[in-house]
Amino acid sequence: MASHPLQRLFDSSADLDNAVELTLAEGITLAEALREVDALLKQQPSVQSVLLIVGQQRAGVTSRTRIQWLRATDLRGTGDADNASPPRGSSGYVMLFFRCAVDGVRTYRVHLDGGAAPQCPNGHGPMELDR
Ligand SMILES: [Zn+2]
Repeated sequence: MASHPLQRLFDSSADLDNAVELTLAEGITLAEALREVDALLKQQPSVQSVLLIVGQQRAGVTSRTRIQWLRATDLRGTGDADNASPPRGSSGYVMLFFRCAVDGVRTYRVHLDGGAAPQCPNGHGPMELDR
């Protein structure tokens, strides 16, 4: 079985129970996915682990620790230190927060397609935009 394209993001020790979901575009590259998860983590300081959804499927779970390690090793020089980064406006990404009205499942989505709300992974239909 071929490894998942985003395999390097995954952290087998991440806290799946408390992970928030992040829906990524199908076919996203590792670098793009890393940037999006990083943007989410910067915008949501309380989030420690992220369940990545790609093409309606659960791809894997990553963690703040893992992302920080990847940024430190792979993207050296492109990032800024956590404490020094501006709180908003620099990444160019708009993160939208969706919530299922039935079971309260939350997901974040990078505003890419200007439209469709994500579907609840538990089959409750479109999720509601929450602010
Ligand atoms: Zn639901």
